[in-house]
Amino acid sequence: MTDQTTTAASRITCGSLRLDDAGKTVTLQGWVHRRRDLGGLIFIDLRDRYGLTQIVFNPQDNPATHALASDVRNEYVLRAVGNVRPRPEGTINPKLPTGEIEVEVTDLDILNVAKTPPFEINQEGEVDENVRLRHRYLDLRRARMQRNVLLRHEMVKFMREFLYARDFIEVETPNLIKSTPEGARDFLVPSSGFPGNYYALPQSPQQLKQLLMVAGYDRYFQVARCFRDEPQRADRQPEFTQLDIEMSFVQQQDVMSLIEELYIDLIGKYSSKHLQQVPFPRITYAESMRRFGNDRPDLRFGVELQDLSDALRGTGFNAFAQTLAGGGQVKAIVAPGCADYTRREIDELTEMAKRSGAKGLATIAVKADEIRSPIAKFLSPDELVAMTTGIGAAPGDLVLAVADSPSVVAKTLSALRTEIGSRLNLADPTEFACCWVYEFPMLEFNEDENRWEATHNPFSGFLEEDAHLLDSAPEKVRAKQYDLVGNGNELGGGSVRNHRRADQEKLMQLMGYPKEELHARFGALLDALDYGAPPHGGIAMGIDRIVMLLADEGNIREVIAFPKNQRGIDMMFEAPNRVEQSQLDDLGIVLDPKKIVALWD
Ligand code: ASP
Repeated sequence: MTDQTTTAASRITCGSLRLDDAGKTVTLQGWVHRRRDLGGLIFIDLRDRYGLTQIVFNPQDNPATHALASDVRNEYVLRAVGNVRPRPEGTINPKLPTGEIEVEVTDLDILNVAKTPPFEINQEGEVDENVRLRHRYLDLRRARMQRNVLLRHEMVKFMREFLYARDFIEVETPNLIKSTPEGARDFLVPSSGFPGNYYALPQSPQQLKQLLMVAGYDRYFQVARCFRDEPQRADRQPEFTQLDIEMSFVQQQDVMSLIEELYIDLIGKYSSKHLQQVPFPRITYAESMRRFGNDRPDLRFGVELQDLSDALRGTGFNAFAQTLAGGGQVKAIVAPGCADYTRREIDELTEMAKRSGAKGLATIAVKADEIRSPIAKFLSPDELVAMTTGIGAAPGDLVLAVADSPSVVAKTLSALRTEIGSRLNLADPTEFACCWVYEFPMLEFNEDENRWEATHNPFSGFLEEDAHLLDSAPEKVRAKQYDLVGNGNELGGGSVRNHRRADQEKLMQLMGYPKEELHARFGALLDALDYGAPPHGGIAMGIDRIVMLLADEGNIREVIAFPKNQRGIDMMFEAPNRVEQSQLDDLGIVLDPKKIVALWD
């Protein structure tokens, strides 16, 4: 945020005056942050986005101005002309950059009055989020939001400059495009020129950036808005911003290295957090699932998943034996120092395991002189050792074990690992731990639709050595897909694409698009691949997310100037809303009255 101060220093703002300026006559404009009437003197903290300056009204020297100042209330907009002078001994405020001076006002204009705001602007405090969002222009005046908006500005500027310096060009791509398959539901925009026809808002500029590569613009980026009509969750917005990048003649390595350099610089510059490991560890998807049970591990703490399947293969404990015989697994994590967990605490963890789909949770408390576990009596001494000391459980620790299909085991233990991590504060908030996860499976089978679908990006390429598996075992084909993970959050992801038509068509057919439909849906991209498409790859990094993490905020709405609320609603403009019947008529749209939701009535 250095630039802000530089700019401010060359102009007179509410944040710029210092002791050196004493004796000058200045004009300040801003909002009344706070007003103190001491019977005689009136003090006002005048605020703009650069800071606060104390302005003083003296009834003896300037009675008319002082009288005017008596009428001023918080958030009034003022223009004050006056003389800068050192604050008297004992009234210096060392917390304020302007705290050594004050301005004695000789001339005051009330540029505008203000109603009492629905919440305090001049202090932090819990305010209902919908009230904040309804009056976002007031919320954005508050110090915390100003800090976030400016941080975001600086970070995006840094990203742009980093890329400009490396020959990237910024190209805008349209927001009215055609529905494309990127996993989520499209927002549709009806065309009034062609009733019955719809544009879709882009879920990402994916195909367009690939087409730019075919066109020869080998290093592209865009701060791109993406739209996904998905059920709202705390950390999701129907529209979000990503740093969208595509490069020609590159391998996975090249894209990963570029982003790694950018993120090391970005985190170093805009956060006091310590980067845990540089270069970022690179972990295959298979390894990540094995060790952490998910593909976005928080590497700030251990508590890794341990496989007990082999050690327990001959067990007499039925629940384990049956699971293993049926192709399942038994895996466990060790919760350090949790051996004294109460019945209630264990029940909570068991409930959590069940919510992840597990049939139950086996626990073993390792005490100094005994082992306490409801399943101990079913296990041989060797098996008990394997399940405790064998996986590093020491006296005082609690083993949490799950027996189920590999996917349920992974999901459950991943959730429990996160829970234990947060209960025990294992993740150091001052650390930032990044890693790359790569070699994701290209395809997964969608049981409901009875077809294969891309786990990440339908345009991702696959490892050449896996090509022979496309027909026999599609689930084993690994994609040239990589995600950057930071403190357990997906920061972004990308892939090296299919630049040969045959490879892309092959995947599309596996994904259940008959050849005829292929052309209707992806004709432009497929055709382009026929005209000398270079090898290319790229990535998209979530901007909201990284700003949120570096600003230490709990949700992305805090770092978006005008976000939707948790239900995807714009509280300020009240959108979505109903439109005039004539607008619908123009579009040829007839509504089903049973489906209409009265959101604002
Ligand atoms: N289009 C992808 C996304 O938005 C990112 C990429 O592969 O470049 O997630």
